[in-house]
Amino acid sequence: MTPKVLLFEDENNIAENLKYALKTEGIVCEHASTAADGLQKFRNGNFDIIILDVGLPDKSGFDVCKEIRSESKIPVFFLTARADEIDKILGLELGADDYITKPFSPREVTARIRAFFRRYGAATDVSEPKKIKNFEILEERFQIKFHNIDLELRRYEFGILKFLLEHPGRVFSRAQIMDKVWQEPDMSLERTIDTHIKVIRSKLKNISDEEIIQTHRGVGYSVKDGE
Ligand code: CA
Repeated sequence: MTPKVLLFEDENNIAENLKYALKTEGIVCEHASTAADGLQKFRNGNFDIIILDVGLPDKSGFDVCKEIRSESKIPVFFLTARADEIDKILGLELGADDYITKPFSPREVTARIRAFFRRYGAATDVSEPKKIKNFEILEERFQIKFHNIDLELRRYEFGILKFLLEHPGRVFSRAQIMDKVWQEPDMSLERTIDTHIKVIRSKLKNISDEEIIQTHRGVGYSVKDGE
C-alpha cells in the first residue's frame, strides 16, 4: 500500500523539498499551488492524506479545510508559520488531524505522516472491509471480525493481528512486529508482543479452535498460509 498525499503549497521550494522527501519514503505526492487547483485534484483523485498550507494565494487553508470536510473525512495536516494560526486551527474545530509549523524539516514531516499511517492505517472514508480467510478487517473502526464475530481487540492487538493476517505464511520476529505496529518501538519491550499474542489467541479461541497464529521458537510469529 503506497500512501498518496495531496499537498497544497504555494511556495515552490518548500513543495519541491517535501515532495522529494516523501518520494524517498515511498509516499506518492501530488502538488497544487493554489486552493482551486488543489480542490480540483482532490475531487478527481484518490488520496490518503492532505497537507494544507494555511496561506494560499486564492483562499485560506481554513476555508479549503472546511470545504474538504464537508465532503470527506480524509486526514488533514496543516502547514503553518504562525502561532496565531495554530490557535485558530485548534480553536475553530476545523477537523484538522495535525499541524506542522514552518520552518520544518522534510524528514520531520515524513516521519509524522509515517507515524500517522502506522497508527490509523491509510484509512479513507470509503474503504471496504478487507476479507482474509475467515477474518474481516474494518480498518477505520479498529475492528476485526472472525467468523463474523467482533473480536473486541485493543489497539495493539488489532495492529498485530492485522499485520500478521496481511502477510500470511511469513514469519516475523518480535522486533519486526513491534517496528510495524508500535509508534515508538523502543519504548516497549519485545516481551509485550508475547503477552498481546496470548490475549489475541484466547479471543480467537472463544470463537473457534482453529490454530491461527503459529509460534516459531526463537524466531517469532506468523499466520498460516493457505485457505
Ligand atoms: Ca503559503
